[in-house]
Amino acid sequence: MNELLTLDGVALSYHTAEGETEALKSVSFSARAGEFLSIVGPSGCGKTTILSVVAGLLKPTAGKVLLDGKPIGPPNGEVGYMLQRDTLFEWLTVSANTLLGLRVQRKLTEESRTYAMSLLEKYGLGEFADSYPTRLSGGMRQRAALVRTLAFRPRLLLLDEPFSALDFQTRSDVAEDVRAIIAEEGVTTLLVTHDVPEAVCMGDRVVVLSSRPAVVVKIIDVNIPGGPAKRRTDRRAARLSEEVWKELKRTD
Ligand code: ADP
Ligand code: MG
Repeated sequence: MNELLTLDGVALSYHTAEGETEALKSVSFSARAGEFLSIVGPSGCGKTTILSVVAGLLKPTAGKVLLDGKPIGPPNGEVGYMLQRDTLFEWLTVSANTLLGLRVQRKLTEESRTYAMSLLEKYGLGEFADSYPTRLSGGMRQRAALVRTLAFRPRLLLLDEPFSALDFQTRSDVAEDVRAIIAEEGVTTLLVTHDVPEAVCMGDRVVVLSSRPAVVVKIIDVNIPGGPAKRRTDRRAARLSEEVWKELKRTD
């Protein structure tokens, strides 16, 4: 009910000169509108592949991906994808970086520009709009990249290990920041990570994947109030992390 995204038996194999790699065996799960789903699994199990399929960048070998009941097509701005590295262009100002995607996709209008600038303002980057990214801290860069993605008003947001390039100190601050922005904007989100506590602290539910080729081994309801920082100190979160680790071990 009220499901925005559905993956049903999604399989994907890569074909290269060296042969075939089966990345996804059969992946099925759904995300409700407004939900934040964490997807956790071992390195190399097929997490990025799942996001590429949902983004419409790769076509599954078998199975279905439905957004609002309709098959996903080629990328058109409905799905926002934020990569591991923030990919801000150093030679463009923060505001030019923010507007670049809209410009490239010919969606830069007076309205979308105003909206993008209001997001920069709202999330504390207004005074850096005319600065270059080198002036931003790691956390602020990540926020700018998120604003750039949200400027499209995507129906679905994909985050691929967005904190993995940050040092430990910054990491939890940025996670807190990003989670709060996403909650405020109410956008349905898939976060992919191999960090179990991060998955539990960020998500409404956690989808646990097997090692490659990926299948879903368990979906866990988190049901713990508060943002990531608060959850990090909650014993229930620690117990859920244990549960996830146990599942991951079983599939090794
Ligand atoms: P994860 O994000 O969980 O670390 P990936 O989805 O990136 O895993 O990769 C899953 C598997 O598919 C890995 O074995 C990887 O080497 C392989 N793979 C990923 N991308 C390609 C590609 N473009 N061509 C061939 N094999 C690939
Ligand atoms: Mg990956």
